[in-house]
Amino acid sequence: MVTALVFRDQPRQCQLEATVIGVSEAGVVTDATLFYPMGGGQPGDTGIFLTASGQALAVTDTRKGEGRSVLHHLPSDHGLQVGDRVTQQLDWARRYAHMRMHSALHLLSVVVPFGVTGGSIGADKGRLDFDSGEAVLDKAELNERLNDLVVANHPVSSEWISEDELKAHPELVKTMSVAPPRGAGNIRMVRIGDIDYQPCGGTHVASTGEIGRLEVASIKNRGARNRRITLRFAEPESGGQP
Ligand SMILES: [Zn+2]
Repeated sequence: MVTALVFRDQPRQCQLEATVIGVSEAGVVTDATLFYPMGGGQPGDTGIFLTASGQALAVTDTRKGEGRSVLHHLPSDHGLQVGDRVTQQLDWARRYAHMRMHSALHLLSVVVPFGVTGGSIGADKGRLDFDSGEAVLDKAELNERLNDLVVANHPVSSEWISEDELKAHPELVKTMSVAPPRGAGNIRMVRIGDIDYQPCGGTHVASTGEIGRLEVASIKNRGARNRRITLRFAEPESGGQP
């Protein structure tokens, strides 16, 4: 089963008609989805499936399924069957916060030039772990440089390259802990202005100004070589129109 990943090219789309192509205890698979499945440190999306009879079914989580399918977690008595049409409605406020924080972590990987060994994205904060060795990281300086990149409003775009191109340029992989997003022999690359270019399958804002002001919440030691840097939004939710 294959689910078309509509969120990749249309990260601001909040409503989509789709057809159920698989139902199991693991979840409901549709032929296309707006819902990002948990991966790369970004949580699975939530929202609603509206059925043809007008019933609103809560989607409580989204995960990768077998092959190239996406599994939507619904209440066990959802009643959906293969062939049913549903209208997907994304919880946009939560997803938009994830898009902003995910994009913010790209900026963090620009200002902290070490390999990333782990990470996590939430709606109010996010973190990356860096293999920084003995390097000394200054919170105030990181804060200033991050917010300079936000204010510069660099455009964010994506493109595909071949697996062979990525193999020829292994230095493009910054995150050692996440396998690059592959699709039919190609790798999805995310570009932020002229400051960041790396494989990524996540969802992003259109330009870094949308992220809003950031704050380095903490820098903690995680073993001799690793530093965990946690970011949070310095301003209340900006809303962001889909
Ligand atoms: Zn990304």
